[in-house]
Amino acid sequence: MRNASDGTARQRNSAPAKVSELLALAAAAKSSGDYKSGALHAHAAADLARAQDDPASEAVALRLLAEQQICLGDYEAAVSAAEASLLICLSLGDDAGTSRTLNVKAFALMELGLHEEALSAMSTSLELASKLRDNELLYWVYNRTGTIHANFGNFQQADKFLLHAKSFANNLDAQEKFCILNNLADNAVGLVTLLRDRKDDAAAAQALIPGLQNGWDALALAQEARHPYRQAISLSNLGRLLTLNREYDRALSYLAESRAIAVQHGYRSLELDAILGAALVQEAEGHFDAAVAELSAILRSAIDVGEKPVILRTLKALSKAHQEAGDFRAALDYFKQYHDLESEIKSAIADTRARLLAGHLDLEEARQEVEQHRQRSSELEAEKLALQRRASDLDRQAHQDKLTGLWNRRHVEAEFPGLLAAALASGSALCVALGDIDFFKTVNDRHGHPIGDAVLREVATILKHSSRPTDLVARWGGEEFLLIFTRATPEAAQQVCERMRLAIAGHDWSHLAAGLAVTISFGLSDLRKADTYEALLAAADAQLYAAKQNGRNRVEPST
Ligand code: GH3
Ligand code: MG
Ligand code: MG
Repeated sequence: MRNASDGTARQRNSAPAKVSELLALAAAAKSSGDYKSGALHAHAAADLARAQDDPASEAVALRLLAEQQICLGDYEAAVSAAEASLLICLSLGDDAGTSRTLNVKAFALMELGLHEEALSAMSTSLELASKLRDNELLYWVYNRTGTIHANFGNFQQADKFLLHAKSFANNLDAQEKFCILNNLADNAVGLVTLLRDRKDDAAAAQALIPGLQNGWDALALAQEARHPYRQAISLSNLGRLLTLNREYDRALSYLAESRAIAVQHGYRSLELDAILGAALVQEAEGHFDAAVAELSAILRSAIDVGEKPVILRTLKALSKAHQEAGDFRAALDYFKQYHDLESEIKSAIADTRARLLAGHLDLEEARQEVEQHRQRSSELEAEKLALQRRASDLDRQAHQDKLTGLWNRRHVEAEFPGLLAAALASGSALCVALGDIDFFKTVNDRHGHPIGDAVLREVATILKHSSRPTDLVARWGGEEFLLIFTRATPEAAQQVCERMRLAIAGHDWSHLAAGLAVTISFGLSDLRKADTYEALLAAADAQLYAAKQNGRNRVEPST
């Protein structure tokens, strides 16, 4: 406890911790079995990740938190943390994370006695793991599903899932291999007992052989790893399997060894398991009084530490031992106590279920609120975009000449000051050209106003196509056009106008009217002599006038 709180204090005092560092601390604490400080670090990592808007890390931290809350026996908190992690995994579309977190949630649900909920979480997890074709995920899903079935007494179902998990275990590490072998051995105890109760001795004998083999293999791995918890648990499983195989002396020695390790390391529940196992050996050997004495002692210890599953098993064993000893009154009494406790556990489970469901509804409500809010803001965002688009459409319409689609005078007046200021500030070139269609009045007079309009449109298209995207091309009014060339020398601007003039003069206008010919004159100005809007326009207009005077269909350069 002191170590755990010292650890957090240090963490809080240090410079801004990184989420990754906190996650590493939480994981390290978990593998060393220091679940209290592991949970604190995981909690801190989740908070920091949320503050830093890092949902992926937050989901990992919450899953790590849930795993350690399970080890600390805080199963309801584990379900909540797992659910919070799941929400994030779902929103991120992280299928592997969702599957892993469902495995954790299912384990907590199993410990709470919520069988169906646990299996339903596992079936979703299985779907995801299969979709991803991830063997490691599949191993965990099958292993955990088997454990859940075994926990609820469905040993035959459990065996199928565990064997399936074992087939995925080849490429896994020693801990994962131990885990599946141990689970198979543990399940064999339940399975053989169940089959014997059903008087199916042949099937029981058949289940016992692989059960023992898995038990030996698990013990070998535990010893190789020098892992005391794994050694204690595999010795206990072997003790129970050897009892079923009627090898009582060997069974007692394994159970004693398991108990010694459990006592040495403070594994309270494993210690009770080993004592219970030894009492069952006495009972199997027909030493009913000795068995009853031991079982009664275990019952008191289990009641002291509040280990309900052990109390339940002990009451059942006591009832059976008394029955076999011929003391039916005592047998009935213990059976009644067993039954009462079972009902109590069941109604506690129902309460838990109701509480979790209420919490789940709160969570669901919160999720829906977030979703609605998100939807509303995206609707508002869409509305805003539509309005902006409409405004810019209107803006564009207001700045566009309807007949030709070119910019209009209003647009030039709005843009010119900015372009001019930018050119003056950066010292870059800027040229202005005024173009005027020659004898346009005659075009109208000879071919009609609609043909005149068509000519204006085609001239506009030619001007637009002959300019650069950065040039501004506008209809100045009537048959006059204004062009602003940014970052273009007077010579370059003159060349562009020359190209435009030639393109218009060389254009085939006969498709509009037989014998139609169109030419244009340009006058240019630039920043060398004029540096205001008015001066540039006046200079260009003067040059245009000169172009007309000098015979039309020509470009008068900037002077
Ligand atoms: P110049 O070579 O000296 O420029 O002679 P011009 O005939 O082109 O010049 P003037 O200014 O005398 O005539 C311009 C004509 O342009 C007069 C007007 O009817 C015509 N015009 C102006 N706007 C439009 C328009 O939108 N459509 C049509 N079809 N004609 C237009
Ligand atoms: Mg004119
Ligand atoms: Mg004209």
